[in-house]
Amino acid sequence: MSTKVLIIGGGYAGVEAALTLNKLKKKKKQDIDITLVDRNDYHTLLTELHEVAANRIAEDGIIIPFDRIFKYTDVKYITDEITSYDFEGKKVSSDSRTLEYDYLIMAMGSKPNYYGIEGLDEHAFTLWSYDDAIRIRENIYNCFKLARQEEDAAERRRLLTFVVAGAGFTGIEMIGEIAVWVKKLCKDYCIDKSEVRLIVIDMLPRILSVLSEKNSKKAHDFLVKKLDVEIILNSSVCDVSEKGFSTGKEFIPTATLIWACGVCAVDAVNQFDIEKVNGKRLKVDDFCETKHKGVFAVGDISGFKGEKDIPYPAMVENAIQTAHGVAVNIVNDLTGKEREKVEVKMHGVMVCIGNNYAVSDIMGREFGRVMSVVMKYMVNIHYLWEITGFYGVAKYIYHEVLENKSRKNMIEQHYSVRNQTWWLVPGRIFLGAIWLYEGIKKIGDGWLKSAKLNGFFGGADSFYEKYPNPSSGWDGVSGATGAGGGGTEVIDAAENVLLNWDWGWIQFIAVKANEIAFKIDFYPMTWIKDNFLLANNGTQMFFQWFVVLAEIIVGLCLIGGAFNFIASGFSIVLLVSFLMTTGLYMQSQWWMLFLSFALMAGAGRAFGLDHYIIPYLNNFWERIWKSKKWSPVFKRALDRYNKD
Ligand SMILES: Cc1cc2nc3c(=O)[nH]c(=O)nc-3n(C[C@H](O)[C@H](O)[C@H](O)COP(=O)(O)OP(=O)(O)OC[C@H]3O[C@@H](n4cnc5c(N)ncnc54)[C@H](O)[C@@H]3O)c2cc1C
Repeated sequence: MSTKVLIIGGGYAGVEAALTLNKLKKKKKQDIDITLVDRNDYHTLLTELHEVAANRIAEDGIIIPFDRIFKYTDVKYITDEITSYDFEGKKVSSDSRTLEYDYLIMAMGSKPNYYGIEGLDEHAFTLWSYDDAIRIRENIYNCFKLARQEEDAAERRRLLTFVVAGAGFTGIEMIGEIAVWVKKLCKDYCIDKSEVRLIVIDMLPRILSVLSEKNSKKAHDFLVKKLDVEIILNSSVCDVSEKGFSTGKEFIPTATLIWACGVCAVDAVNQFDIEKVNGKRLKVDDFCETKHKGVFAVGDISGFKGEKDIPYPAMVENAIQTAHGVAVNIVNDLTGKEREKVEVKMHGVMVCIGNNYAVSDIMGREFGRVMSVVMKYMVNIHYLWEITGFYGVAKYIYHEVLENKSRKNMIEQHYSVRNQTWWLVPGRIFLGAIWLYEGIKKIGDGWLKSAKLNGFFGGADSFYEKYPNPSSGWDGVSGATGAGGGGTEVIDAAENVLLNWDWGWIQFIAVKANEIAFKIDFYPMTWIKDNFLLANNGTQMFFQWFVVLAEIIVGLCLIGGAFNFIASGFSIVLLVSFLMTTGLYMQSQWWMLFLSFALMAGAGRAFGLDHYIIPYLNNFWERIWKSKKWSPVFKRALDRYNKD
């Protein structure tokens, strides 16, 4: 009979537990029935909530449907909210169902801790869920809409005061993001930026106390000097009302107070007879097991302690590693192996302030601004690759880079302009037809029968004889291309050398013949040509076959829109190699190079086979990678990759 493992919560910990169990059950050939229950049908990238709250990216950018994550795995997921727990009877229930288990992994996460401060629950915003992020975003929009028409100066000021309580990484990332967004909002709503007040308040004497003092100061200065944020330290929030809040020293009127001052375990823990440690987190042993046998707590809800005898911080690394450890131990139990102590290694913290500033302390090292920003992106990409493969990474890059809505610099504004791919279809088919024609024509010219390259490139010699002095001639060029053919014709008809720039390794030459032709003599390439391509008849034949086949295959791929990115890339490679061996005609061939670049932007997805091939390959890869089952045709393989 199969062993039932039930996971409650599909956050970082729950997903990691499910995927690890899925992998191990196959590897160790165990009959495990894995079920994950979450109140939502998607996984939320909580660490990116502030980007949605301050409108940098669309809300779609921070959620990944479970359907996508568990596709091709044996994990079943149920959308429901568990409300009661019977550890003795080994079952949990929601309003509509009861689920039994042999092992229970609790990964329900945490919630904001109000520390009993009056009025917070009713009047402050929290940033701990997808819905929270949207609520904050809509409120900020609304404040600007109302402020624009508000005639009372004090009320206008209140509406334009945005406060984040808590100067930890969540609070600082939030205020940094708002600071960037309000610049755009001020423009859109015709409000002078000086009217907006941005505040961070914290009880501690410095911001980002998890980072080194140096990094904390760098972040502090950036917020104050570059983003006009007021930082109020050594102060706490009290008496929160609809109108604002008090710091004990002054009353700050605001319509937007975002509470980011620490977390505690979700309310469900109140009904458990399990001892709680810091922040109501559940006491667990070295294996993350609670006092109930087979009941584990992982991630934010778990009070798993390290060597220093304090629970690990409520962070992603802790969530993933505790979940991984528990999954391994469940399989160890089933295979009769001894359990391993769960190990958590925290590597550090990265804090992004706005879209292009970050500070980080990683493994005891402080990284600079650029490296910190890059690391933040890389960490997210790595995580998404692990849980969703190409789909999640593509979606992330799409939202962060192409669809980034926050104040963009001029370059970003230009590269994020998008177009419908079908406009490229005529160009794709035409370029494909030209390549196909060139390949077939070469067969007709006998390229597959006898060595011709030497004569083709060597035709340049006659030109060289005509212009022996490099400053007045074209050193070793025929002016012909593999695509265009007829090289010697150009040489014979050549009238003028228009340009002859020699920069040592690279020589750039333009000649006017019956057409203007360009050639770049890149000396390493010339060396390869002389010593390899033209070495003997055999090598010449090899490359002639290669060029003919490449032209035909590239042509067919472009016409059919199959593997368009690779085919367009190869078209560029062919043209560049012609440019460096024989030269390219200005009127009849350079367009091919530039069109090839344009086609790389997904031209095969519209009216082309890539519409089916790319999702198929993505699914194929996921299938192999996630379930290690080989099957050339499988369920849902033709789903569009961005169906969700
Ligand atoms: C704005 C923000 C920024 C952050 N930035 C960072 C950062 O930069 N670096 C970092 O390391 N950490 C960061 N964190 C903390 C990190 O997100 C958490 O530590 C992590 O999400 C914990 O993972 P988890 O799986 O334990 O819980 P969660 O990710 O919170 O997942 C819990 C899941 O359980 C589900 N659930 C809860 N109760 C029930 C129930 N009764 N029934 C069914 N489902 C239920 C929820 O819907 C949720 O999907 C940030 C958090 C926030 C909010």
